[in-house]
Amino acid sequence: MAEQEQLPQSEPAEEPRKPEPPEEARNARSYPLVPLKNTVVFPRTRVTLTIGREKSIRAVEEALANERQFVAATQTKAELDDPQPDDIYPTATLVDIISFQRQVQENTIQLVVEGSRRVKIVQYSDTDPFLKAEVHKPVEPTPSGAQSEALVRHAISLFEKYAQLNRRFSNEDITSVISLKNPARLADVLSAHVVSEHTTQLELLETLDPLDRLEKICVVLGNEIEVLELEAKIRQRVRQQVDKNQKEYYLKEQLRAIQEELGHDTASEVQELRDRMAQKALPPEAETKLRKEIDRLERMPQHSAELVVLRNYIDWILALPWNERTEDRLDIAYAQQVLDEDHYGLDKVKERIIEFLAVRQLRMMREKRENGTAAKSSGHKGPILCLIGPPGVGKTSLGHSIARSLGRKFARISLGGVHDEAEIRGHRRTYVGALPGRIIQAMKTVGVRNPVFLLDEIDKMASDYRGDPAAALLEVLDPEQNNTFTDHYLELPYDLSEVFFICTGNVRFQIPRALADRMDIVEIPGYTEEEKASIGRTFLLPKVLREHGLGEDQVQVSPKVMRYVIARYTREAGVRSLERQLAAISRKAARRILLKPETHLRLTTQNIEQYLGIPRYSPDHAAERGQVGVATGLAWTEHGGTLLPVEVVTMPGKGSLQVTGQLGDVMQESARAALSYIRSRAYELNVPDDFSEQTDLHIHMPEGAIPKDGPSAGITIATAIISALTHRPVRNDVAMTGEITLRGRVLPIGGLKEKVLAAHRVGIRDILVPEDNRKDVPEIPAKIRGDLHFTYVKSMDEVVREALLPPVTEGEDGVPKDEAEQTAAVARTPTDRAVPPQQPEMPHEPDLLEVEHEEENLPLPSEVNILPEESAIKFQGQEPPDGFSAYEG
Ligand code: ADP
Repeated sequence: MAEQEQLPQSEPAEEPRKPEPPEEARNARSYPLVPLKNTVVFPRTRVTLTIGREKSIRAVEEALANERQFVAATQTKAELDDPQPDDIYPTATLVDIISFQRQVQENTIQLVVEGSRRVKIVQYSDTDPFLKAEVHKPVEPTPSGAQSEALVRHAISLFEKYAQLNRRFSNEDITSVISLKNPARLADVLSAHVVSEHTTQLELLETLDPLDRLEKICVVLGNEIEVLELEAKIRQRVRQQVDKNQKEYYLKEQLRAIQEELGHDTASEVQELRDRMAQKALPPEAETKLRKEIDRLERMPQHSAELVVLRNYIDWILALPWNERTEDRLDIAYAQQVLDEDHYGLDKVKERIIEFLAVRQLRMMREKRENGTAAKSSGHKGPILCLIGPPGVGKTSLGHSIARSLGRKFARISLGGVHDEAEIRGHRRTYVGALPGRIIQAMKTVGVRNPVFLLDEIDKMASDYRGDPAAALLEVLDPEQNNTFTDHYLELPYDLSEVFFICTGNVRFQIPRALADRMDIVEIPGYTEEEKASIGRTFLLPKVLREHGLGEDQVQVSPKVMRYVIARYTREAGVRSLERQLAAISRKAARRILLKPETHLRLTTQNIEQYLGIPRYSPDHAAERGQVGVATGLAWTEHGGTLLPVEVVTMPGKGSLQVTGQLGDVMQESARAALSYIRSRAYELNVPDDFSEQTDLHIHMPEGAIPKDGPSAGITIATAIISALTHRPVRNDVAMTGEITLRGRVLPIGGLKEKVLAAHRVGIRDILVPEDNRKDVPEIPAKIRGDLHFTYVKSMDEVVREALLPPVTEGEDGVPKDEAEQTAAVARTPTDRAVPPQQPEMPHEPDLLEVEHEEENLPLPSEVNILPEESAIKFQGQEPPDGFSAYEG
């Protein structure tokens, strides 16, 4: 037997069914009885019953044939198929059949019944063919008043809560229940739908007083709610736990799959990084930062684009030397020994370096005594050593020697062409491919926090819209700031205070002012030929041979040959290209010796061409004779001094002046000033006074591709013009330098030392020097000074007196006639006098600068600054150093 319960659709206003018969009449009547298994039907509720037992079907049929009423009673034992009166509870419900349906195949009847009222079975009037019982109908009290209402409300609120927790009821069901106001009806409906326990149901059926019933139901509901709440809580806890476990499990599995796929294992990598960090003893700030970043790495998904960036960053921090340092060797005598071992000559420079080291050492010792921080004292508060000189004079190798003498490691970066501040200070990590700046990069490479650090070409930095690298460099070099140097990439202060910085450059005046202020500048002039020969023999050759695996006895280069190599194959202030030539010799020698192991090679001026090819430079010699219109000036370049020939030709014309050879404004003005001076002194100088109307002048300075500027060619230009106009040849053994004023005064110039060395190199022995430069002459190495003769000049008159020879005439003094004829056509004087011999060439250094470019890998000619004067112009905004402006007026 199955059953299905239905909630009441709504509460009928009054019990609408058939008018109740009087109590007596209603009592003790007999009805067919249907025993139910495990089912209690309550009055006022509808139930669907399926009747299958033969006896029960008969009883229903009997009821249907009469008033469609029967007694629905519950069996005491559900398992009995044919219950006897004793097996049936005596309290039962009289029900009305609402509808019925026969299920022919199953031989059952399906009934919808509605409980009508409680009945008590008095006795059974029949048991066959169906049960028939005589029942008594007890009268239910009708409660009202506050108590009943309170109880109703309480029951309803409990039910609401119960329904909420139970979720078995539809919204409709709930509203229909809570609209019930009649306690009797409410009690029965709730009994049918809320109470699940069979015995409680029977007890409720037996309880006649509706309020009693309601109270019992409230207790049941209260218990049910408690149980349900507990159940919900448990359910939720269980679900949470399951969710969490499941989620974790799922994620871990996924992570492992990805890592396997990528071949990574973050966990072990992170552990390795932590181990490395623990061994590193980082400063606290760096440690905190690193720890944070490693944690971040650990949490980062494996496929994150940031992962590589972060890992690189962590590697950088771990690779930097935070505490690693070398022990300083503080021994001046040893330092001197090292410098002497590595370098020939340079006595003054070495002396300055030793003094510098001595002061530094004393300062360090004092620091140590005062604050006992032995490890940190670095003597860093002093100025920065800066070596200035042309290329190849040994600045870098001096840096190496200083490092060796102090027992420190050596780092080097070149600042040439650095425009961007970020090259010094790094890019922020947010940039793609960001890296630390060059300082930090070099520190990582060198691996200690106290190396000797060479900053090369400090004079070649430029600043533009990308920031000013000099400002960043200041932070690096300034001892007040450099203990917390912050690279944009690292985002951490890094202590550079123990680094021994040395700067090098070619031009003193091009060093940014703020940096120059903090430097102890040591100038290294170029070498003389003799010095080069000695360096070549005693230092370069043994070194180069060693590098090529050769013994000194296997390749012999005599002093004479060395000088020949220097004169004919190199042209430089330093010895770098000499070193290269010697390397070229060694390479060729190595090959020969390998073919014939017993060979000993001896180089001579005859066989040298087999090693180095045809000499690049013709032998230096002064012009064989003085020439008209050609004077030899001296110029200063970053790479040392050089000769600057000035050529002038005169042509019939209208007095125009043409100046060629890539001259800057200052040099052009110099030429004009010289011309004005000559015009104003035409008579004294014996210049034809109508030349300015009838003669055109062309001034040219060869090596036209190279820009030249500055005033120091003034007297040379004037001399060449006077020579051309007066036909007096210029002495071939004189070189000159000096600025000219309109009144013919000679003003001092800069770079005398380099200029003099250049003249000496080509064998010019007489040099005209402005009187005001007399004070600079002692700076020139004594050996050179001894070879030279200086004439100090105050005015142009003195220059003319010293430099010009008496006028020449055609065919005179062995000047070849044909040459004179050749030039006569082009250089006719306005007076149509006999034309003096003109030679197109002068004893200047052929292609000197071009060759140097090629050899030294210098910037293109158009970018080269030839003269110191140009520096003055270039740095106008910056105001050249005092010494310089004084020289150049
Ligand atoms: P710089 O840095 O001034 O351009 P380098 O230091 O590179 O020049 O020198 C070029 C080469 O010349 C190096 O091999 C160096 O050892 C050598 N050299 C320069 N001057 C001397 C010297 N006085 N004694 C020995 N070798 C020298």
